[in-house]
Amino acid sequence: MKVMIGALAHESNDFCRYLTTQDMFEYYEGEEVLEHLPVKDIFQDAGIEMIPSIFAVAGNYGPVEEATYLHFEKKILDVLSENRDVDGIWMFCHGAMNVQNIGSGEYRLAQEMRKIVGDNCVISFGMDLHGNLEPGLADLVNIIRCYHTAPHTDQPETYRMAANTLVHYLKNGYHNYSQLRKLRMIFPGEMASTTVDPFKTIIERLEDLEQNDDRIACASLFIGFAWTDAPRTASTVVVVPSAPEYEKYCSDKADELAEYIFGKRREFDFQKLSLPPAETARHSLYEMDPPVCVTDMGDNPDAGTVGGSVVLLKEYLKLQDAEKKVLIVGIYDPEAFNVCKSHKIGDDFDLSIGIGIDEVTSPVEVHAIYRGWHEVYGYNFKTNPPIKRCEGVTISIGNIDVVIVNKGYHFTQHVNFESCELNPSDYDVFVTKFGYIYPELEEMGKNFIMSNTPGESYQMVKEFNFKHLNRPIFPVDDI
Ligand SMILES: [Zn+2]
Repeated sequence: MKVMIGALAHESNDFCRYLTTQDMFEYYEGEEVLEHLPVKDIFQDAGIEMIPSIFAVAGNYGPVEEATYLHFEKKILDVLSENRDVDGIWMFCHGAMNVQNIGSGEYRLAQEMRKIVGDNCVISFGMDLHGNLEPGLADLVNIIRCYHTAPHTDQPETYRMAANTLVHYLKNGYHNYSQLRKLRMIFPGEMASTTVDPFKTIIERLEDLEQNDDRIACASLFIGFAWTDAPRTASTVVVVPSAPEYEKYCSDKADELAEYIFGKRREFDFQKLSLPPAETARHSLYEMDPPVCVTDMGDNPDAGTVGGSVVLLKEYLKLQDAEKKVLIVGIYDPEAFNVCKSHKIGDDFDLSIGIGIDEVTSPVEVHAIYRGWHEVYGYNFKTNPPIKRCEGVTISIGNIDVVIVNKGYHFTQHVNFESCELNPSDYDVFVTKFGYIYPELEEMGKNFIMSNTPGESYQMVKEFNFKHLNRPIFPVDDI
């Protein structure tokens, strides 16, 4: 038997004004694809031949440029056209890829692949729980399974489960489909962490079904991605039967889960203390034991923002206190980056920080001392080695140290800070451009504030200027 393997993934933030282009994708083809996806041994052990297509995964940003999507789609379809006899297809697709002039990238890819392989090929997608699924996706993709953790720590396990289920289907000759239900609710990821209720209890129920109910192969809740403005933007339940005779059972189970989860919609809330920007600065400096980890939720490049907000920098500058050390990591400003890099370590100079494309990035003038330049490393999943993400220059403005980066990036891993020779525990407060408290941030901080800052990943869904959302939907509408 033969299975095509690949990855095409992106989380597209429609409130980010720039398009995601081809150069922004981490890209591999040929045998290298298999090295970057943790499923190779599963197909090998099952005696299934693997046909690599492509691995194209970009950091989250604005919608994907149409030509970029079509370029990658063609690469995949070319491989498939040469291997029309594949028995299965396994792919990592995020679920929230929004393509310029096309819409859902995953849905379009599934449609195009089906045109080549027909109905008998079994397609399996490992996905991200922030996916906004087209309702019709379940008529094209047999097996759909998303992460059970947010923040995400189970990517390899999810991909392997989608792969193992595909092997199970192929060995038994099954061709049945997932059962999908859309829910009329949508939350920003930060209000839906699996470390706290109600999502924690929901995941326990899904895991119980997967482990203890033989009729169910996979059970998923896609919470969705609030910053894509499309009719499909909403949470989704997907249940995958373990055999064709359980399709009706799984259909009923999907209805039951949809009703149960929708019934919990009013319980979704932030995982930790959340405060507006000015209160965040004051509270983190004077009301909490250090080190305090602050996340700049409204400007989270991991949710597709540009990463250039200086809102929290301005708040901490107002409170400059010689007794308190503050670190702010990852402000995107390529011009300020280049100015700093042109200096010698120890130089002091006037500097403008802020790319000035909107209110949150309007520049602030400071006097800086240059501390150094570093390459910033980070990993996709823990099983992969860290790769270079961006470059950062460190400056001091009085007792506030700032890392300015040449490309938007979220510092959440020990290796991000270590590669800049920084240790968050040397500071009273450290601020990072991220949303919820990633497990490694939890290790670095003693106390936490998820700052409810303005920006392209602003958390108050009710206030968004949605144009294409399928209404009514909670909490935009009080249903
Ligand atoms: Zn996600």
